[in-house]
Amino acid sequence: MTMTTGSGLHGGEPTNPDERIPYRGEQPYGVPDDLVVLGALDIDASDERLWVPQSRDVTFRPLLLSVSQGYFVNILRVRRSGILSRHRHAGPVHALTLRGRWHYLEHDWWAEEGGYSFEPPGDIHTLEVPDGVEEMTTLFHVTGAYIYVDPDGNPTGIEDVFSKISNARAHYEAVGLGADYVDRLIR
Ligand code: FE
Repeated sequence: MTMTTGSGLHGGEPTNPDERIPYRGEQPYGVPDDLVVLGALDIDASDERLWVPQSRDVTFRPLLLSVSQGYFVNILRVRRSGILSRHRHAGPVHALTLRGRWHYLEHDWWAEEGGYSFEPPGDIHTLEVPDGVEEMTTLFHVTGAYIYVDPDGNPTGIEDVFSKISNARAHYEAVGLGADYVDRLIR
C-alpha cells in the first residue's frame, strides 16, 4: 500500500491512482440489499398515504423494518398535545426531533427541534407533547419493543417491528399501495 498525503477525501485531486477504483470483488455472501428512502425528511411533501395511522392524530412513516435485528426506524408524527404513552423500552432508542418539542414526565430534559436524544434500554417513561405544539415529528430508531405499562409498570401492550409491519401492511393495502409495499422496507 502506498501512503499518500492530500487524498481526495478532503476535496483535492486524488494523488493515489487506486483511490477512485471501485471495489472490484464480490460482496460477502449473505449481505442484504442496501436501502435508500429519498425525501425521508421532506415531511410535508411526502405522499400522505405513506403515513400509517397509529392512534388519534398519531401516524408513523416506516423507513426501515429490520426483522433480522429486531429494530425499526420510523418517523413519528403527532398532531395533538397531551400524553402519548407510558412505556418501557426493551432496547436502546435513538431519537432525532425534527419538529416541535416533547418530553418524558420522569425526566427533566426536553427533546427540541434539531436535537438528538438517547433512551436507554429498561427506561420507563411517559411521553407528553406540551400544549401549544401543533405538530411533533421525530425520527426514532427503536431496537426491541415498546412495552406499554400502567403507572406501576405492569405491562399492558407491546409494539415492535412486527406490529409495525402488520399495521403498515394493513394500511398500505387499504390506501391502494398494496400490502407488499412494506416489503421494500424490510431487511
Ligand atoms: Fe421512549
